Amino acid sequence: MNDVVTTPAIVILLGPPGAGKGTQARMLEDRFGLVQLSTGDLLRGAVAAGTPAGLAAKTVMEAGGLVSDEIVLAVLKERLAQPDTAAGVILDGFPRTAGQAAALDVLLAERGQSVTTAISLEVDDADMIGRVAGRFTCAECGEGYHDTNKRTATDGVCDNCGGTAFKRRADDNAETARARLTAYHAETAPLIAHYRKLGVLEPVDAMGSIAGIAAALGKIIERATS
Ligand code: ADP
Ligand code: ZN
Repeated sequence: MNDVVTTPAIVILLGPPGAGKGTQARMLEDRFGLVQLSTGDLLRGAVAAGTPAGLAAKTVMEAGGLVSDEIVLAVLKERLAQPDTAAGVILDGFPRTAGQAAALDVLLAERGQSVTTAISLEVDDADMIGRVAGRFTCAECGEGYHDTNKRTATDGVCDNCGGTAFKRRADDNAETARARLTAYHAETAPLIAHYRKLGVLEPVDAMGSIAGIAAALGKIIERATS
């Protein structure tokens, strides 16, 4: 089912690494026809393509630090300029600093828009390192797996597409995940107050099942866009 969204929604997903932002963003994309914009994916694309932005971002990302606002804003603006984003977007992993949040507010105001809703995925920090450190995805279809929490039914074969090649992010190890969690608390968690002040914050308990969380997010987006 593809629910109809009348005004272009600008949805922000906030939460530490491992909270499930990417998983939920992909589900919302399918359900509401919104476009998922992941700055992590955009930056990994730039790294793979060897662009100047990618070269500058690579070392920072491998250490679990935050890429400079300048670079992140440049890749985000380039993506936002593409026409498919007019349907509405889910920002996954952006904004991550006060500077990025302020820049986003300005960018949207120029388009006569503002943030529709900022969903904060509330999780137990203690579980996040283990979630991130064990995860991998199917290289073919992008289905997500985990060494202990969600193995493939048959070793080495994707349940979803039968593919046999898998990918693991260079930064998905315990040490880097710890640095990313620290960066989240120092730079990103304070944005929760920013969106609360704007009256668009929606905190969601995100320690339940993927389907249960998706249902909660769906209700919030329906309410925010009707
Ligand atoms: P996660 O949310 O699981 O940590 P992402 O894929 O969103 O992973 O991001 C991976 C890395 O890309 C981050 O650790 C950071 O180095 C960089 N990055 C992504 N988005 C931003 C951003 N908005 N600002 C700065 N750095 C970012
Ligand atoms: Zn697959």
